[in-house]
Amino acid sequence: MVILDPAHGGTDPGARGTGGVRESDIVLEMAAQVKRGLEAQGFQVLQTRTANENPSFDDRSALVNAQSGAIFLSLHVSSTGLSGTVRVYAMPDMALAPANGGLIPWEQAQAAYLPLSRKLGDAVQGELAQKFKGSPAEVQTASIRQLRTTAAPAIAVELSSVSIPDKADLDKLLPGVADAIVRGVVTFRPSYVTAAPASISSAPAAGAKP
Ligand SMILES: [Zn+2]
Repeated sequence: MVILDPAHGGTDPGARGTGGVRESDIVLEMAAQVKRGLEAQGFQVLQTRTANENPSFDDRSALVNAQSGAIFLSLHVSSTGLSGTVRVYAMPDMALAPANGGLIPWEQAQAAYLPLSRKLGDAVQGELAQKFKGSPAEVQTASIRQLRTTAAPAIAVELSSVSIPDKADLDKLLPGVADAIVRGVVTFRPSYVTAAPASISSAPAAGAKP
């Protein structure tokens, strides 16, 4: 199962280009294309949002943390960087506090998944680098709020950029980005052997849902 996270949305448009291009809109279209490609490969796909709305970070993490054996892909379009390049990020090393009554703290949910997240990131980045010259060859690390509370292999994919003068040129990049992401996920799939998942503590009240 793959959880797609079109970042931002609702009152948060994300990065905005001079031509009125909004990151929150482009990532929805990107998610739709990735979803089609993944489903064609037999993956089950859920999305943290499918319209112009803005679920909280915790609500988005709660969706994936309720699943077993899922991966999480957060989709972004940057305001900077060479147009037509794509970067994949995973979290840097996180301190993992000793288990407290068998529960992993919500804020450290990603810690146990870092090696798998980087493996997934390298697989996706490798495919993107072949298609989009100037992209890095390997996954980068960055502290990303959305990934921290996610108890699954989790990466952020960031396309450059909303500053592209003509939105049509950005739209033209999306099928290639989607195809590379799907290929990377297919490559990663055999290496995702899940141990019995540890229990994650509940989301903080603001993000908790019954
Ligand atoms: Zn973003």
